[in-house]
Amino acid sequence: MSRFLNSRLQALAPYTPGEQPQMQNLIKLNTNELPYPPPPAVVQAATAQAQRLNLYNDPEATALTQALAQEFGVVPACVFTGNGSDEVLAFCFQGLSERGVAFADLTYGFYPVFAQLYGCDATVVPLEKDLSLNLSRYNGMQKTIYLANPNAPTALAVPRATIETFLQQNPDALLIVDEAYVKFGGESCVPLTQKYQNVVVVGTFSKAYAMAGARLGYAVASPELIADLNRLKYSLNPYNVNSMTQAAGVAALAERAYFTGCVQKVCTTRDNFVASVRAIGFECAASQTNFVLCRHPGFAGQALFAGLRQSGIVVRWFNNPRIENYLRITIGTEEEMQQVLAALRSLTTQ
Ligand SMILES: *Cc1c(COP(=O)(O)O)cnc(C)c1O
Repeated sequence: MSRFLNSRLQALAPYTPGEQPQMQNLIKLNTNELPYPPPPAVVQAATAQAQRLNLYNDPEATALTQALAQEFGVVPACVFTGNGSDEVLAFCFQGLSERGVAFADLTYGFYPVFAQLYGCDATVVPLEKDLSLNLSRYNGMQKTIYLANPNAPTALAVPRATIETFLQQNPDALLIVDEAYVKFGGESCVPLTQKYQNVVVVGTFSKAYAMAGARLGYAVASPELIADLNRLKYSLNPYNVNSMTQAAGVAALAERAYFTGCVQKVCTTRDNFVASVRAIGFECAASQTNFVLCRHPGFAGQALFAGLRQSGIVVRWFNNPRIENYLRITIGTEEEMQQVLAALRSLTTQ
């Protein structure tokens, strides 16, 4: 730290991204990416656009915004695009959270970081004993509530009907629904953005669209809320989504069959994997995402994490007392998950 750093930032604890190891031959199951590459049409769209990198990209991301609007059945004025959903979430913390924020004790690790970065007063609401989220705990809060749905790292979702009731009963709360994993088993709240003024749905191309490295996220909300996000974007970086990513995003939305197939494969592999780890003594709740959270009653999470690492398998372990004996394992290909299973079996039978 230099002596020039603003004093308010000296105590900031930045987000720790999952490891992105550059070694070949590792089975990388730690950051919830899709194990399949983007389809050729997406690669071609990005490559063709690369020929024009001398020119600035479209700050309004017109074609992409239109394609997203069409995908969701809304008008383009209800759609915002960002440099990953992390940027969209950052704008929400920066600009829509003055009355304080609330989020779960176990949820996306960026929420507390953004709250600290933007000086938001944060209320942390514990999950239930079974790690489910009881939305009624947030009743009456006139704050901005951040809800990852399905939640990470728990892999559990809140039904849309529950969220709709909450929005009706809490018109003075603003609910930010982070749907990074919705395609793997959640119910999207996008339709609620057309009925309620107090909800923003945030999504990403990083998980179900195989584009984590392209950095593309979006928000769907009322035109007023979208205008607020644009006010922030045009005050920071009007060119936030680069031209290759815009082109890739448009192409991805036209490849519905490919991505539906990928998501189905992941879900099938996931359900097989859950059954298999249970059969070797793990506790593992049914997952509504592309990862599972599991533990073995006889082994410490950190030891299993280290053991897998020794076998060339990288998963996520959280140094948090509530889940310190759990592993969060991204669902890879069927073959990768067979190897994980074999490694877990040998680590837990000595
Ligand atoms: C992965 C993830 C994101 C981040 O997505 P990017 O679009 O890659 O920034 C946001 N929220 C949750 C809950 C995630 O797991």
